[in-house]
Amino acid sequence: MLKHDILIIGGGPSGLSTALHLQRTAPHLAPRILILEKARYPRLKLCAGGLVLDAEILLERLGLDVNEVPHVDADSIHFDFQARGLNIRIPKRHALRVIRRDEFDNWLAQKVRELGIEIRERVTVKNILSQTNEVLVETDQGTFHAQVVVGADGSNGITRLSIFPNAPVYTARVLEVITPEYNVVASPSISERRSNLLAKPSISSRRISRNNKEAFFDFFPVPNNIAGYVWDFPTQINGERMRCWGIYDTNLLSNEKRPQLKEPLAQEMERHGFNLDDYEIKGHPIRWFSPDNPMSVPRVLLVGDAIGADPIFGEGISIALGYGNIAARELIHAFERNDFSFRRYKVRVLTSPLGQTLLSRWLITYIIYSLKWKWFQILLWRILKPIVIAVSWIFVLNWGRRMPKP
Ligand SMILES: Cc1cc2nc3c(=O)[nH]c(=O)nc-3n(C[C@H](O)[C@H](O)[C@H](O)COP(=O)(O)OP(=O)(O)OC[C@H]3O[C@@H](n4cnc5c(N)ncnc54)[C@H](O)[C@@H]3O)c2cc1C
Repeated sequence: MLKHDILIIGGGPSGLSTALHLQRTAPHLAPRILILEKARYPRLKLCAGGLVLDAEILLERLGLDVNEVPHVDADSIHFDFQARGLNIRIPKRHALRVIRRDEFDNWLAQKVRELGIEIRERVTVKNILSQTNEVLVETDQGTFHAQVVVGADGSNGITRLSIFPNAPVYTARVLEVITPEYNVVASPSISERRSNLLAKPSISSRRISRNNKEAFFDFFPVPNNIAGYVWDFPTQINGERMRCWGIYDTNLLSNEKRPQLKEPLAQEMERHGFNLDDYEIKGHPIRWFSPDNPMSVPRVLLVGDAIGADPIFGEGISIALGYGNIAARELIHAFERNDFSFRRYKVRVLTSPLGQTLLSRWLITYIIYSLKWKWFQILLWRILKPIVIAVSWIFVLNWGRRMPKP
């Protein structure tokens, strides 16, 4: 019989962070952890890879140096409505770090292994049954028995589906596209040379230049009932500088008439000289946080996208790392008391600095996307700039520093 104390399902940032926080705070529990991951590292994960400052703080507190991961730094972030709005810079540092998730998650998994925690790859969990004295985890490699299970298997994870088959689901639609940098597309000679590699990028006559070192969020689709934004980040693939584009829609306005999701993305890319049809579009849902999302049953608790990412932006890497911090403390408490009811886990999440930011972001989401009119979006992003910056600084960002140190 395969019996384990702590079985973590999913080796993304939330599962790996739970293991790292457990190891750091209660090292005696580390040998009792097993992580089951269905893929093999380095594995693909659709994600723009934008790491906010809070993610870097949480990693630093775990003794990890994210500089070891290949990355591109954006000097500033623009929050725009129709190409005009707020420009955020952070003095003496980058505004946004952009990693590729195959590299980042592989690095994090390596750190977990170096600390003696076992990760078993290519094991797909099929079902989870919480019983009075144990949890049965059915996989394609047999059934595992665990004292407790952490569901860290993402937005479509089987853990949540097994324990809460009828829970309400708040899910955003997201599309992503990778292109060369602007100047590469704009220069016919270079683009011709690359045409074999990069699927015929074409050049629009209405091209508007942007700085390759900046990241952009444009909320122009909101009045057309797409409750989200189009993004454009710098990134790199195997050391080559590229752009990562995408569109995020919370689905809050799904009862209204909307264009096809790819239309605003195509429109924005075209303004900058790219033809969406030339590139491969990939899509994946993001489950977002709402206070009524369930978080645990006896012996099973959820972390990361399995509970919910930030609803405003779909930002979920820092959030996943933060959930790991809270789940680790809940597990330590449970083993100390031999009480695996996880009755107070949701309260622990909601009253934590992470929970407070998620509650604020959830409220802000309903305000900024329900008030979808053009005049309101202009007011928000172009006129009320100091208020938006102050609210973001106090309620949206800076929660990482306030989390308990592991
Ligand atoms: C297009 C897109 C762009 C995004 N851009 C950003 C961004 O720029 N910045 C940001 O902060 N966030 C971004 N996000 C959100 C971010 O990717 C997620 O919030 C984050 O990955 C959540 O981490 P997680 O560990 O909870 O889940 P995941 O990263 O999804 O990890 C889940 C893990 O569980 C494994 N798994 C799943 N099912 C099983 C199973 N049955 N058995 C075993 N293993 C299983 C998976 O293989 C995976 O490794 C983006 C998301 C999308 C879709």
